[in-house]
Order: sequence, then C-alpha cells, then structure tokens
Amino acid sequence: MIRINEHYKKLQSSYLFSSIAKQVSAFQEANPDTPIIKLGIGDVTRALPPAILEAFHAGVDEMGRDESFRGYGPEQGYAFLREAIAEGDFAARGARVDPEEIFVSDGSKCDTGNIQEIFAEDIRVAVPDPVYPVYVDTNVMAGRTGGFTDGRYRGLTYLDATERNGFVPRPAQLEADSESPDLIYLCFPNNPTGATATKEQLNEWVNYARKNKSIIIFDAAYFSFIRDESIPQSIYEIPGAREVAIEMRSFSKTAGFTGTRCAFTVIPSELVAWDKSGGEQRVHALWNRRHSTKFNGVSYPVQRAAAAVYTQAGRNQIRELTDYYLQNASIIRKVMTDLGYSVTGGEHSPYIWIKTGSDSWSFFDRLLNEAGVVITPGMGFGSNGEGFIRISAFNHSEKVEEAMDRIRKALS
Ligand code: PLP
Repeated sequence: MIRINEHYKKLQSSYLFSSIAKQVSAFQEANPDTPIIKLGIGDVTRALPPAILEAFHAGVDEMGRDESFRGYGPEQGYAFLREAIAEGDFAARGARVDPEEIFVSDGSKCDTGNIQEIFAEDIRVAVPDPVYPVYVDTNVMAGRTGGFTDGRYRGLTYLDATERNGFVPRPAQLEADSESPDLIYLCFPNNPTGATATKEQLNEWVNYARKNKSIIIFDAAYFSFIRDESIPQSIYEIPGAREVAIEMRSFSKTAGFTGTRCAFTVIPSELVAWDKSGGEQRVHALWNRRHSTKFNGVSYPVQRAAAAVYTQAGRNQIRELTDYYLQNASIIRKVMTDLGYSVTGGEHSPYIWIKTGSDSWSFFDRLLNEAGVVITPGMGFGSNGEGFIRISAFNHSEKVEEAMDRIRKALS
C-alpha cells in the first residue's frame, strides 16, 4: 500500500497566499462591482525593461536558427551569465565570488526550499519570526520539526524579529539556548518586515556561525532596493562569510522576472559541512550533485535576458524600475504614518510592515471589506506577525495612490 510522507500532515492549512486568494475571490463574487486593488502578494506589475526584452528576443531568435540553436545548457548556468553576476553583483561591491560558485536556477523559491535537503535530517534549524514561509514549510516537509502548537512548530528555533530588536534578530538571543542551531536562515532586506541589517549585525551572525560550525542561508532577494551605501547588499561583504554562508538572489524583484523565472545560489568553495564520522564535505560539491541530478538548466533566452541586467542600459533601467516601486513605498509609508501607525520598512525594501495593534486577519478583512484593498496579514508570516500587516509597493503608482486614498478614508 502506497503511503504518504506523514510530515505533510503537520503543515498548517494551505500556503498563506492561497488562503488570501480564496478570501479575495469570495469577496469579489459577493461584490462584483467593487474593483479590488491588490497590495498583498509581492508580485511585480511593470513590464520587462527594454534592454532586457531586447536580449530576450535575440535569444529566442538564436533558438530559431539551426546555426545558433542550443539544446540542454550547463545545469549550473551559462558562463556568460555567471561571469556577469560575479562581476556585477559581487566584485563591484568588493566581495569575492567566482563564477564557478554560482548556480543559476529558475527561482529563489525553489532554491531556498530545496537547499535543506543536502543537510542531515536531524540538524537544528533556526528561522526568523516573522519569516518568508518557504524556509519553515520545507523543513517541516523534511521532518525536521514536531507538530504545530501555539502558533509554532516544535523543534524549530525561532529568532524573534520584533519592535524590541528593530526587527533584526541577533545571535545574543540564542546564547542562552543549550544547543546552537546548525542551519540559520536570514533574509535582508527582509520579507515581510522590510528591515535591513547593518554590517555589524551581519558580522555578529558570521562570527556566531564560524564559532558554532553552522551555515547561514542568506536570502538577498531584495538587495537591489537598498539605497544606503553603508548597508551591505551581500553577506560576502562581511569578512569570513565565505566560510559559513550560502547566498541566494533572484531576478524576480530586481528586474521584473517573476513570470520569466531566473535566480541563483552562491556556494563558496571553502564552505564545508561534516558527515557523521566528522569528515569535512564541500557543500559546493553536494549542491552541484543535487542540482545537476534534479535540474536541467534555465532556458537560454531567459539567461540572455538576465545577463542584460548587467549592461549599462540594463543597470539604468532596473534602477528606474526599483525606484518606481520605492516611490510607491514612500507613499504607503506616508499615509500610514499620517494615520498614526507605527511603520517600518519601505525605505530600502518594497514592503512596509505596519503595527495595527489588532488581530491581523481582522485588519485584513476590514481593509478588504471597507476599502477593497488586499494586504497581507502579518500572522501569515509567523506568530510575531500578529498585530501587524504587510503592504506591498508592487503595483502601478496610480493604483497605489487610489488604494491609499481608500485606506485613508476607511481608517480615518
Ligand atoms: N525569497 C524571498 C524572501 C521572497 O520574498 C521571494 C518571493 O516573494 C522569493 C525568495 C522567491 O523568489 P523567486 O521569484 O525567485 O522564486
């Protein structure tokens, strides 16, 4: 008799955004004449920038001629893209990443979800609370947690990200724990809070991981929204990080690739983990084995499009794109601050994290029913999200302005 993976039964209802979608479609059915404005899910709304589109088209045309046609490419990505990434994202910031350390993929959701499978089943995992739900759910699926009680999975270490620590968890919070976590997920600029970490704060994590032989998964999906030069964009700007950190980045929010799909994971050559006999194993080799066994590469035109991000025209155009969303974010920040709410994020991030003080799903219902605006209840990102909502700046500016007008009226 075929049996299921029992760990799936521990998962809490459906994925956050499917729950929201269900409520929104129920509302829309009941109120067909109210146009809904969505500032909920973090999906971009503006078209691919012209330099990127042109490279995408050229890539497609190459596929249409026998002389330039390409079949399977390297699973790790074409050299032209890996070289452009190493130079444009890392060397330009004084961080060393070699092209061979980059694994191109079709998304950071898959990468952040899949990476855990190369580590032992019984490692201890630490995740921030609130958090991008994929880190948690994939560790639940893999059997690294107990059941769900009082808003948390047993066996996971939660790193509180609250008003008290400016939404940036610190290793000092763990010092009292008898057992240190082996795998630590960090995400800056953060989804959902929009918080960023300073060099000193990341330095503390790198030192902690080096001391405790842990590995940090650093999700930098939103690095391109950072406007303050002193804020690190990559964990590899921190000395010693190459020994303890894996970094993941995506073209989704940087360049409007949510529907085009391209991302990458960096695994430095010196990063090691240990087998049960205490033997050192290179994590790069493990991930390379996993990636080339289960993944067959991103399509050639998509990689050409991604490489165009690093041309001068591409750089200017994606800057304009991220500036556009940041301008939306500043409108959202202003309205919510004027209404008297305590607000974080939105300055170096497309997300604004707002303290509502009340139950976050009721606040979601209120904004849906009274303003026709969809936001994300903070509770969906973890128990520390209770009393908060996340508003996303990803929409057309006129829609954001209208949504904020409606919210102003509903909440005034
Ligand atoms: N990581 C974080 C923190 C995200 O918020 C998202 C998407 O919302 C992703 C990863 C997924 O990115 P991708 O579109 O590359 O799968």
